[in-house]
Amino acid sequence: MSGLFGIVARGNCNDTLFYGTDYHSHMGTEMAGMAIMGTMIQRRIHDISQAQFKSKFADEYKNMTGQLGIGVISDGDPQPIIISTHFGEFALATTGRVENARLLIKDLHTQGIAFSEITNGEINRTEIVARIIAQGKDPVEGISRVFENIQGSCSLLLLTGEGIYAARDTFGRSPMVIGRRGGDWAVASESCSFTNLGFHIERDLDPGEIVLIDKEVVRTMRPGSRTRSICAFLWIYTGYPASSYEGVSVEAVRERCGRFLARNDHVEADFVAGVPDSGSGHAIGYAMEAGIPYRRPLVKYTPGYGRSYTPPSQEIRDLVAEMKLIPVREIIEERRIVLCEDSIVRGTQLKNLTIQKLWDNGAKEIHVRPACPPLMYPCRYLISTRNIHELAARRAIAALECKDTNDVSDYMDESSSKYAEMVEWIRKDLNVTTLQYQRLENMVQAIGLPKNDLCLYCWTGT
Ligand code: SF4
Repeated sequence: MSGLFGIVARGNCNDTLFYGTDYHSHMGTEMAGMAIMGTMIQRRIHDISQAQFKSKFADEYKNMTGQLGIGVISDGDPQPIIISTHFGEFALATTGRVENARLLIKDLHTQGIAFSEITNGEINRTEIVARIIAQGKDPVEGISRVFENIQGSCSLLLLTGEGIYAARDTFGRSPMVIGRRGGDWAVASESCSFTNLGFHIERDLDPGEIVLIDKEVVRTMRPGSRTRSICAFLWIYTGYPASSYEGVSVEAVRERCGRFLARNDHVEADFVAGVPDSGSGHAIGYAMEAGIPYRRPLVKYTPGYGRSYTPPSQEIRDLVAEMKLIPVREIIEERRIVLCEDSIVRGTQLKNLTIQKLWDNGAKEIHVRPACPPLMYPCRYLISTRNIHELAARRAIAALECKDTNDVSDYMDESSSKYAEMVEWIRKDLNVTTLQYQRLENMVQAIGLPKNDLCLYCWTGT
């Protein structure tokens, strides 16, 4: 998932844009870019796969001046895209997933439209969106076309001379929040980018809403919908703990998830630990509810390391995960450990790089407690790094059924024997003492929004 930040300021916006964009560095890890509107659009784009955003932009951003700017931490494509259209020049940054990219490219090619941004043989997704917008009579109609034509999801920031157009995807799967600091406005994927920059949250954009932020006001150019399907995984894993979405704090949800896990548990343990970082909030909630200590048997070495989830190569993800978690033998040896994890995607990192370290350092028992139910489907809307056959639950089902099975409904019923067999298969595969997943209803309760307002596709397939 990519992270977006936009700013409309009374003075030069470059400092705020730099730090506001940097606060999205936990999201994409491939490319980053900034564009500022002065007398013309100034843009910088850098590869951040091997270096942090700050180190690449720290010198350059000081030479960019203007009152309007957008920044992006991208999970793949170089952005922002600059394009000249019949309604003027604009810079565009997007987040989401274009599932029907091939079809859209074919349609645009048929109309004689060419593309210029090719990365690793693939046409830049943000350029596809830019070309669709350019077909509208104005930016609002162009963005509406994007909403109508894209399968998947797309939220975006579009920088023009008149202001910044911000749009949230049709079902509000990704967050987009507006903040205010005196006469300055900001719009961001992550609300945690506001706090230290002095902004307060004004409101979340509605799903499908398009606003124009100029120097005076935020104007709704196309109203949003009340029908929403917000990514539940934001609260469980992908969101930053200091952020809130729809007014619901990520850290508070993680603590509630942990409390539900503890309430449904009867295991005796010496302490609770979280797999850093996103497992920590869940573990703290578990510890508070169970009344047993929270400790850190695995300490994360953060300097120089980013997240291990987003790099596209499994090899790099494994290497980063291997290097950054350091076990503390004095804490682990001879202890019975409850280990909270945000989720089990493939299970290979958890098994080889976390659990194995605990066994190697003398753990007596390891009880794994994922904060969400078994993942059954890869994301279709925001995240692009999963394959259905890699998912631990699917591997378990394939092994139990001796074939790939499309109908997995029995395995999603938490009271069924098939569900119990699947969990037992994963437990053995992980090589842990016990394994108990969060229940879907408890995860929804922990988030606290109506179930119908959440995207639960990863778990339910609907
Ligand atoms: S499919 Fe999963 S990760 Fe994707 S938007 Fe829905 S809940 Fe989020």
